[in-house]
Amino acid sequence: NPLARAQYLLAAHNFRQLPPDGGFEVAFAGRSNAGKSSALNALCQQNALARVSKTPGRTQQLVFFEIPPSTDRFLVDLPGYGYAKVPQDLQAHWQAFLDGYFGSRQALRGLVVVMDIRHPLKDYDRQMLRYAVERGLPAHALLTKADKLSRGAQGNALLAVRKELSSAYGDTVSVQTFSGESKLGVEEARAVVARWLEL
Ligand code: GDP
Repeated sequence: NPLARAQYLLAAHNFRQLPPDGGFEVAFAGRSNAGKSSALNALCQQNALARVSKTPGRTQQLVFFEIPPSTDRFLVDLPGYGYAKVPQDLQAHWQAFLDGYFGSRQALRGLVVVMDIRHPLKDYDRQMLRYAVERGLPAHALLTKADKLSRGAQGNALLAVRKELSSAYGDTVSVQTFSGESKLGVEEARAVVARWLEL
């Protein structure tokens, strides 16, 4: 698993702090508490990799993890939402940064959107998917915490989300069930990320 080598590189809160835009990167988005950190940790077979993203003050930064030995392949942890308490001007700065990142970052090869299988496709998730689709980037949705549902309910949720995604975004968005807890779907998700990173 090449992702097992992932390690923290830096956290950027503006364009100047981004690593050089010459490589390959996959961004991870998800509402707070959706299970994004657990998903990143499971993909990378590490217990605390994404903990750094949750450090207070890092909530409005893009956290970059590099994948040695290459120096130009990154996983990028986008902050979860749930920062309604953030002052207006910071909010605007952040929105502009995110718009710019999605709009212009050449290295960005794909987006993973992590959603709680019991509450998929909230406004935030749709906004993120729109960012990707508008740029012609592929996106992959993880319906995580699948272990909380029966097999039958998992299948129903998957079909419903797949149907909705394909009617809204066509075939540039794929979806699977996932669990950071039981490790369901980890191999499948890892294969998508590794392909986008050309690992
Ligand atoms: P984040 O805020 O999106 O990074 O979410 P976390 O990964 O920190 O997870 C939020 C909460 O959901 C934690 O209490 C996790 O233990 C729990 N959680 C995350 N993934 C799963 C999963 O696949 N199954 C179950 N049952 N719980 C999960």
